Amino acid sequence: MFDRILIANRGEIARRVARTCRRMGIAPVGVSSEADAQAAHVAEMAQSICLGAAAPAQSYLHIERIISAARQAGCQAVHPGYGFLSENADFAEAVEAAGLVFIGPTPEVIRMLGDKAQAKHIMQAAGVPTVPGSSEASDDLDRLGRMVEELGLPLLLKPSAGGGGKGMQVVRDLGQWTSACQQAIRLARANFGDGRLIIERYIDRPRHIEVQIMGDGQGQVVHFFERECSLQRRHQKVLEEAPAVCLDPALRERLLDAAVQGARAIKYRNAGTFEFIVDPQDQFFFLEVNTRLQVEHPVSEEITGRDLVEWQIRIAAGLGLPAPQQEIRAHGVAIEVRIYAEDPAQSFLPAPGRAEYVHWPEGVRVDAAFDQAGDVPPFYDPMVAKLIAHAPTRAQALNRMELALSQMQILGLTTNAGFLLNMVQDPAVQQGQIHTRYLDDHLQRLAQVPQRQTWAMAAAMWMHAQQQEGRPLDLWASLAGERRQLSAAGDLGVYPVWTQSELIEVSWMGGAQPEEIGLMVEGERYELRSPQLSQGRVSAWLAGRCLVAMRCGDHVEVSWGGVRGQAQAYAARQGQDLHGGGQATAPMHGVVVAVDVAVGQSVKVGDRLAVVEAMKMENPVLAALEGIVEQVMCVCGQQVVNQQLLVVIKEESP
Ligand code: ADP
Repeated sequence: MFDRILIANRGEIARRVARTCRRMGIAPVGVSSEADAQAAHVAEMAQSICLGAAAPAQSYLHIERIISAARQAGCQAVHPGYGFLSENADFAEAVEAAGLVFIGPTPEVIRMLGDKAQAKHIMQAAGVPTVPGSSEASDDLDRLGRMVEELGLPLLLKPSAGGGGKGMQVVRDLGQWTSACQQAIRLARANFGDGRLIIERYIDRPRHIEVQIMGDGQGQVVHFFERECSLQRRHQKVLEEAPAVCLDPALRERLLDAAVQGARAIKYRNAGTFEFIVDPQDQFFFLEVNTRLQVEHPVSEEITGRDLVEWQIRIAAGLGLPAPQQEIRAHGVAIEVRIYAEDPAQSFLPAPGRAEYVHWPEGVRVDAAFDQAGDVPPFYDPMVAKLIAHAPTRAQALNRMELALSQMQILGLTTNAGFLLNMVQDPAVQQGQIHTRYLDDHLQRLAQVPQRQTWAMAAAMWMHAQQQEGRPLDLWASLAGERRQLSAAGDLGVYPVWTQSELIEVSWMGGAQPEEIGLMVEGERYELRSPQLSQGRVSAWLAGRCLVAMRCGDHVEVSWGGVRGQAQAYAARQGQDLHGGGQATAPMHGVVVAVDVAVGQSVKVGDRLAVVEAMKMENPVLAALEGIVEQVMCVCGQQVVNQQLLVVIKEESP
C-alpha cells in the first residue's frame, strides 16, 4: 500500500480524499494556488505545496508542476479528484511516465471515452443502446447538415469533447440550425479546444440515471447501483439521489447490466460512471462514461456503506476489487444537494466572496470546502459544500434534508440555499415527478427569496441584543441611545432599519412566552422563537428556519436558512451617507480589467469608473455622485477583494 498520495485538487473533494487517506494510514499531500494559501484543504494535509498563481493554468492544471510536487514530497500515487485534470489523458500518461500511480483508468481508456462519438461506438459494439444520432463528430457545416437531414428534428448539438453540460444547443426548427451549429462550434472551441460536434435526437423530458461501477482493469467489474440526477439546471446537476425514483425493477436490472457489460468490454480500471437518459416510455440510451469519481458519489456510498475513495486507492495499489458483487447491497435512500456560491436572484450568477461564519447542519453528512469560515475565490468552480441525507425512505430523506437546510447558517456569502430548500419542499419533487427540464421550467418560482422584512427583523434583533449587553458601538451609538429612551417604559420600542434601499420600522412587541419575541413589521406580526446571543451573533427561529445575524463593518449580515440578507441601522446609514457616498468599492472579489478615470477628472452619477472581472463576468463600478476624482486606488490587472475601495470622488460644492 502507498504511504503518501498527492491529491491534485482543491476544496471539498481534496478534503474528502484526504479523510480516507488518513483513515487508511496514508499521508495526504496537498497542492494549492496562491489564492488558496489559507484554504482549509491546505491546512489539513500532511504537507502541501504551492503550485503557482491563482489562474488554473498556473496551478491546478499545470501538469509538470503537479508531478514535480508529487516527486518532491515522496508520493507514490496521484488522486485527481473531479474537474481540473481528472479526465485528462495526457496528465494520466505523464503521471505514469514519472513512475507514479494514477488513481483512475488507463490513459488510453480516458482518451477513448473522453470523445463522446468514440465512446458511443464502443458501447454500441458492446450491445449498449445509445441515443440515435450521428456516428461521427465533425466541425464541417456541410457534413453536419447532411446528418441533420438524416436525423430529423428536434435534435441536440453536443461538443464531442465536452463536459459539464456546457455548449449544448437544442434545435427545434430547420431555420435555426445553421446559426445554432456555428455558435455551438465556437463555444466548443473556446471551452474544450475542439470544435467538433455530435448530433443526437433530442429526447424530450428524459430522466438522467447513471450507474457507478468499479473495475480491476482485468475485466472484473462490479456496480454500486444507480443514481438519479434528473434535477438539473441548464443540464447541470443540482440534486442527486440513490436509488432512482420509481424505477421499474426490470429496467433497473437492464441498466446495471448494460453498464457492467460496457465496462467489462474495455477492461475498465478504477471508478467510472455510465450515464444514461431514460425517456417517458422507459426506453434507455447510453450518453457517456465519466472516467473519474463524480461529485455525487456520496449518495452511492451512503446506500451501500462503502467508501469509494478507499476502493479507488486499493484498486490503484493492485489489490483488486475489495468485495464481490453479491456483498454490495443497498439500504434506504440517500439524497445530495450541492451548495454553490451563486445568486438565484441574479440568474444564478457566481457570487464568490468570503463566508465570515458558517454552521453546517447536523443530521446529514456534510462534505464541505471549509468548516467555520472560508473564501470562495473567483477563479474556480463556486461549489462550497454538499449535504447528504440518508434515511430508510425517500420521504424521510427529503424531510431530513429539509430540516438540514432550515438549520443552515452562512454569514457573508450568497448561496443557492434558499433555492435548494424550495426545491426539496416542492410537491412534484416530493412525489418524484421529475425530469431533466423540471427545474428550468419552474425556475422563477423556485428561485424566489425571502422578503426584506426578514432582514430588517434580524437587524433589529441584533441591535436589541447589543443594547441589552450594554455595548452600543460607534456608528450605531446614536440609534442605541434613542432606543434606550424608548424602552424606558418597558422593553418596547421601534428600530428603524435600512434594507434593500428602503427604510423599514421594526416594532418590538415582547413575547407571549418567555422563549418568544413578537415583532411587528409593516402591519404584520411575526414570532421569533428561542432567541440567543452567542459570540457576537444573535439567532432565533423564524417560520421554521434559523435566522442569524452578525455585524460586519457598517452593516449587519443575515442568514435565514442559509439565504443571505443585509441590513443597516438607520444611524449607521446616515453616517455612511455623510462620509462615504463618494467611495466606489469593488462589488465582489475579482480582477480590475479597466480603470476609466484619472485624478482630477470630473464625473457624473452613473459614469463608469472601473470594471472588475470575476468568473468571466464583467462588473462595472459606477459613480454614485457628481464630483471630481480625488483618488484612484487600483490599477489594471490588480486583484481586489469584495468591498475594497477603488476610487474616491469629492462632491462638487454647488
Ligand atoms: P456533459 O458531458 O456536458 O455533461 P451529457 O452528454 O452528459 O453532457 O449530458 C448532460 C445532460 O444533458 C443530461 O443529463 C441530459 O439532461 C441532457 N441531455 C444529453 N443528451 C440529451 C439528449 N439526446 N436529449 C435530451 N437531453 C439530453
